[in-house]
Amino acid sequence: MENILSEIQALRNSLHQHNYNYYILDEPTISDYDFDVLLQRLQTLESQYPEYYDANSPTQRVGGGVTKNFETKKHRYPMYSLSNTYSKEEVLQWQERLVKILEHDQISFSCELKFDGASINLTYENGKLVQALTRGDGIEGDDVTTNIKTIGTIPLRLQGDYPDFFEIRGEIILPWDGFHQMNEAREAAGEPLYRNPRNTASGSLKLQDSSLVAQRPLRCFLYSLAGENLGVQSQFDALGKARQWGFKVPDSARLLGTVEEVFEFIAHWETARKNLPYEIDGIVIKVNDLQQQELLGFTAKAPRWAIAYKFKAENIVTQLLGVQYQVGRTGAITPVAQLEAVEISGTTVKRASLHNADQIEKLDLRIKDWVYVEKGGEIIPKITGVDPERRGRLEDRVTFVDHCPDCSSPLERLEGEAQHYCSNSSGCPTQIIGRIQHFIGRKAMDIEGLGGETVALLYHAGLIRSVADLYALRPEQLLPLERMAEKSVTNLIEGVKQSKEKPFAKVLFGLGIRFVGETVAKRLAKQFGSIAALAQADFETLIQTEDIGDRIAKSVMDWFLLAANQELIQELKAQGLQLENAVQAEATVPQILENKKVVVSGVFEHFSREGIKEKIETLGGQIVSGVSSKTDLIVAGEGMGPSKKQKAEKLGIQILDETAFLALLKE
Ligand code: AMP
Ligand code: ZN
Repeated sequence: MENILSEIQALRNSLHQHNYNYYILDEPTISDYDFDVLLQRLQTLESQYPEYYDANSPTQRVGGGVTKNFETKKHRYPMYSLSNTYSKEEVLQWQERLVKILEHDQISFSCELKFDGASINLTYENGKLVQALTRGDGIEGDDVTTNIKTIGTIPLRLQGDYPDFFEIRGEIILPWDGFHQMNEAREAAGEPLYRNPRNTASGSLKLQDSSLVAQRPLRCFLYSLAGENLGVQSQFDALGKARQWGFKVPDSARLLGTVEEVFEFIAHWETARKNLPYEIDGIVIKVNDLQQQELLGFTAKAPRWAIAYKFKAENIVTQLLGVQYQVGRTGAITPVAQLEAVEISGTTVKRASLHNADQIEKLDLRIKDWVYVEKGGEIIPKITGVDPERRGRLEDRVTFVDHCPDCSSPLERLEGEAQHYCSNSSGCPTQIIGRIQHFIGRKAMDIEGLGGETVALLYHAGLIRSVADLYALRPEQLLPLERMAEKSVTNLIEGVKQSKEKPFAKVLFGLGIRFVGETVAKRLAKQFGSIAALAQADFETLIQTEDIGDRIAKSVMDWFLLAANQELIQELKAQGLQLENAVQAEATVPQILENKKVVVSGVFEHFSREGIKEKIETLGGQIVSGVSSKTDLIVAGEGMGPSKKQKAEKLGIQILDETAFLALLKE
């Protein structure tokens, strides 16, 4: 037995090494055939001796594990997006802002390629990959560990002097040749082609069968570390360290000391990118020094210390065939251009967004015009201009509709708004269906067993007219419907029932009040605690809430004024949905930090960074990222940046160290 175990271990070591040589160094030292022989030997031994199972064995690369539901998990460190720009002018303005905030004009930048794929967060414990989460909404992502293990460029086991625990972020991409290969196979099989590498890469992460993922030529490039006490002082250091630990970190990154050099870097890649074996959609510029990064902090969405310069999208000319009008769940009417099909950056484009009536007028659009179409970062391309040499006839000018294409009600346009709306919010089928679809959506009630098409089906069958009706559905009403087998009916009813447990903030978001997105819904739920309190809040109270401006306040008040909405709330209440925050133990915690703006800095002995932030919030404090004159308090652990400290002292802000903070908790 001893011998078996040592053979298994030797095989694993050798396969890990060959894998590294092949995927990371691009220098394989054995043939694929010899590699397969070793791998098969290991597979045989592992199946004969299941007691020696290892979740990070090279055999896991082959896949086979099936994930039915990808579990959603919270990110230890939120995954922010990046502020982006298409203009060098704005990059310059950004740099000038940094100089001002940091009071320092020697800022160096780590300049990196912006890989165009799906972002991933990997967790390593004692040198082993233990978890892989997708970005999701940045706060929570989906656990795709089983699938990720099949990607050769992701080390299952690290080398060198890696920290005991850390997280690392990167991009899963599909290089062009792999993408084309996959499409050739699809074409041969008469299947529809994949549209672009990015969507195919991100779609791959959610395949249920990991052995299918293993067959896809995916790669992973790493670009940032997260964790405490990692022993790195700068972003560029971090890239080097990650490379030493066995990660694939492309060597295209440069450490640059001036904006001029940054612009040269951009100019170089603007053309050189066409020769890369994979797609990039821009350049990411990051403040290199981690202490400076910490000082700069984050906005709600993105770090202040980084900016993405995006390459201008490809522009193409095609002919306008017509304009259709779509109705959204809020009644907003969106004009959509129908185009003669063209290829842009590898995808076929037949439709383009026209935004609103003003846009159409500004373009003076006529049917049969030749128009410029641009496909930028967004999924839907847009029309950016008309070719003056090839115009349609004057009598074919596009005039915006004045009635709803769905329910024929007259359209209205609120003062100061660009959008037209269908005025019939309670009777317009598209709006009703759209509202219910929004309510059951993933970010809202996330009702299992019920999808958007079924909602439409149920509406047309006369079974639902509002989200409250979902909760009154009975099996005998559903069974006679098309495509409703017993099993799906049970799932649907069960899913609807379970959604009654969803917290108030989700219900509030699900109601689809105009301008009340996910973040605002959370904020309102936290501030007001219940739908009853929110319904009674006046304008003054609403706008005093963080993040809530005039526009949102007014929209919330208008929503509660409608009798139909008041009825809806009564019905939802009767059905037992959560219309107030669950009572938590923290309600009894004295709010000693009430309304205090608190900055957390450094690392702590008794708390994780997220943990201490949560603690501060339960005491009523509000976490802010950058030190400013508005900051009330700084809770500082080990290693608070000296510049941050200086700034705090200059502004006379109280600083509590961990001991003092613990003492405060005792009180
Ligand atoms: P966006 O999705 O436009 O907000 O851009 C942010 C995304 O860019 C991140 O979530 C990453 O997935 C991706 N990205 C690609 N390359 C890099 C890089 N070198 N550094 C940081 N983010 C990157
Ligand atoms: Zn309508």
